[in-house]
Amino acid sequence: MRTVALMGATGSIGTQTLDVLRRERDTLELVAISGSTRLEQLIDIAREFHVTQLCVSNDSDAATVRDALGNVHVVVGDSGLDELSRNADVVVNAVLGFAGLPVTLATLEANHRLALANKESLIAAAPLVEQVRRRGSGEIVPIDSEHCALHQCLAGSPAQPGRPDVRRLLLTASGGPFRGYSAEQLAHVSKADALNHPTWSMGDKITIDSSTLMNKGLEVLEAAALFDVDVERIDVVVHPQSIVHSMVEYVDGSTLAQLSNPDMRLPIAYALGLPTRFAHGWGRLGFDEALTLSFEPPDVKLFPALNLAYDAGRRGGAAPAWLSAANEVAVDAFLHDRIRWNDIVSVVASVLDDYVDDPLVNLEALRDNDARARALARERIDRLSHE
Ligand code: NAD
Ligand code: MG
Repeated sequence: MRTVALMGATGSIGTQTLDVLRRERDTLELVAISGSTRLEQLIDIAREFHVTQLCVSNDSDAATVRDALGNVHVVVGDSGLDELSRNADVVVNAVLGFAGLPVTLATLEANHRLALANKESLIAAAPLVEQVRRRGSGEIVPIDSEHCALHQCLAGSPAQPGRPDVRRLLLTASGGPFRGYSAEQLAHVSKADALNHPTWSMGDKITIDSSTLMNKGLEVLEAAALFDVDVERIDVVVHPQSIVHSMVEYVDGSTLAQLSNPDMRLPIAYALGLPTRFAHGWGRLGFDEALTLSFEPPDVKLFPALNLAYDAGRRGGAAPAWLSAANEVAVDAFLHDRIRWNDIVSVVASVLDDYVDDPLVNLEALRDNDARARALARERIDRLSHE
């Protein structure tokens, strides 16, 4: 029996992970969960799976959970996430944004498997995560569908430093809801338009990130951190059907791809089961009807987020942390109707203009950089909303 902790259990990835766990009750045991809102849902999950370790955001929520469940261990905040992430064989990090950092670091420090959906923590803390990975035996198995595809396509590649056998990684992108839009059309898109993703149903933040292509930019940085390939050898290709989830081109000219219908339960099950593949067939392709796959280059002029991410990747240090932090603040402001869709990436670009190289030597420096980038983003947003 493999024990599983699910951090961010009440979200989009969290609930899909529960679907996998329901089918694998004989092989996987859920032992710990966290959630920052929707307490009723969190309590229901604890009852259904007999979970006795829970993490919530504050003391008043902790009291509510104890009242509802009786004899359970309830912890709070960052230190709570840290504690519960050390207590399971596999930890699913499905927390949203930089708040997932304690989960990423604690799981790897405890030398366990990190099933990682939370790309923001890895991107922001890449140099620190690398140090922890080198010191111990913790491993990261990505849940993000593109990176799960790359993980599978790289399975035959020896993990030599810098991966000399790989010519490039090709990350596929659906193109989001605004693929093919003109600059004029993009100036007038609404929140409802941006939340209407053509192929995936996901949490609000990543759905907005997909509409600006910032999600793909973040995924370039995520791939660089996961697979030890620098950003110059990572390309993005738009593939509107979301069937090919990514590809690896080897130096001999071979390109390997992973194909399936879009269903996050496939990468989640992969990360929980490896080396076993669970026989659920989520996302399997029938090939009994005509299937057309198309590929085109991204429009980096209309979607400048991609180049911002490449620049941050080239600069390294704390630049990716700034990019991700400023983006989190800007997306939140957009979701609260404080700025327009076009402003999201402008705010991030203007924050990065102020970035001064910082090698990011420790956790304190990371928290410092994160706070600075957020403060600058808030300042820019205040200015915009008063214009
Ligand atoms: P979501 O908003 O649906 O769920 C987020 C979860 O994190 C919830 O359980 C919430 O309670 C918890 N949470 C939010 N803020 C928190 C905080 N400050 N402290 C502690 N917990 C907090 O998000 P999601 O779409 O499931 O995405 C989760 C992560 O997975 C993100 O990093 C996202 O980029 C990544 N991801 C999601 C998908 C998808 O299909 N949804 C695909 C690939 C990657
Ligand atoms: Mg993805």
